[in-house]
Amino acid sequence: MKKKVGFKTLGCRLNQFETDALASKFVGLGYEVAEDSRNADVFVVNTCTVTNQSDQKSRSVVNKAINQGHTGMMIITGCMANHHKEQLEKRYPNAYVVNNEQKSAIPQLVEAHFNKEILPANESKGGVFSYVPAAETFHTRSMIKIQDGCDNYCTFCIIPKVRGRAVSRSVDDILENIRQVVGFGYKEVVITGVNISRYLSDGVGFSGLLKQIVDIDLDFRVRISSIEPDSFDDDFFKLLEHPKITPHLHLCLQSASESVLLQMRRMYTYKLYKRIVEKLRNINPLFNITTDIIVGFPGETESDFAQSLSALEELGFGHVHTFKYSKREDTRAARMTKVIDEREKSKRSELMRQKSLHAKIKYRQQFIGQSLSVLIDTVKDDFSKGYGEYYVPVKINQKLEKNHLHTLTITGIETGGDDPCLIAERIAL
Ligand code: SF4
Repeated sequence: MKKKVGFKTLGCRLNQFETDALASKFVGLGYEVAEDSRNADVFVVNTCTVTNQSDQKSRSVVNKAINQGHTGMMIITGCMANHHKEQLEKRYPNAYVVNNEQKSAIPQLVEAHFNKEILPANESKGGVFSYVPAAETFHTRSMIKIQDGCDNYCTFCIIPKVRGRAVSRSVDDILENIRQVVGFGYKEVVITGVNISRYLSDGVGFSGLLKQIVDIDLDFRVRISSIEPDSFDDDFFKLLEHPKITPHLHLCLQSASESVLLQMRRMYTYKLYKRIVEKLRNINPLFNITTDIIVGFPGETESDFAQSLSALEELGFGHVHTFKYSKREDTRAARMTKVIDEREKSKRSELMRQKSLHAKIKYRQQFIGQSLSVLIDTVKDDFSKGYGEYYVPVKINQKLEKNHLHTLTITGIETGGDDPCLIAERIAL
């Protein structure tokens, strides 16, 4: 009987890449990926710790599995394992708590467990890049990890503590990973890491790497995932005109107030951020810019907040992730005294969400009458859904082939909900 392994992944695309690769490794070792934890021999929870809520969500996943009677092997890994190792080991004494550095060695750890062996230290070392190209994944896009860790130390951020210093994967390894997953049938690869614009390996920077990726002589498109708006060079902007690279960037702003950006120790000014947006819209007036904004950062005044609100209008964001500032111990911001009370934070967050939904609908309405190349990732009896090159969701009331790029013409936009889909028809060209 094949052993079953179940997964639950929280947080970012980096975690998704790692879970996808682990799932593929387990399948290679003869395991079957389980639908849910209940009947799994092994259950891997890949946690996130970026906010207090992420910790709570991670714990509730583990608690739920235990309450639902999971009696198999439990592995808690990911950034919360790095951040709260002792707490997790005390709270879940029957679970293995595996940090990010050793995460890639989890299949060996599981095999040793079932063979009642102790895993030799050199085998449990893992390595942040020791992952196999993922054939079996939970996604229609293939995540490609190019970098890990961060040296920026923004004052609110716990990631450098849990993901370590910035390290970059070798160019050859990345190119080979992409060739393999395109060989497995993936049509879109998502370039991911913690701070990818700071990629540097043997003298090759982020633009140099992107150039080599688009030069791979295979049919696929490239999506760049979350990126910090610093160290963009002219080559980078030139490359964004390449037909393989999708016209969308998740460009983290966090605040539009220069004084708050300074307190956050961000590596750019709002003025510079605006110039980057202008350059992107010069490349393509519909270029989709999505972003993260923190409200209620210590010391954020009404006028600081108002500047972030007006940035939504000024820059025409396609989507905004709004975060209420979440105090993380061991960060510099945790020692800042001008704390904004929870009710005020909630009020600002609600205002930001309303305004960003308005900006999103306004941005998406521009696509009516346009044709988009849509990668279908969901197929139901009477409709199919996917994302176009601008990373806007598109729905069509037809059954289309999954994991295939379809040219669809946008005829309208859904009303209601906080993520209105574009409505499409397949018009014979
Ligand atoms: S750039 Fe700043 S926010 Fe992003 S991971 Fe690094 S420290 Fe955190």
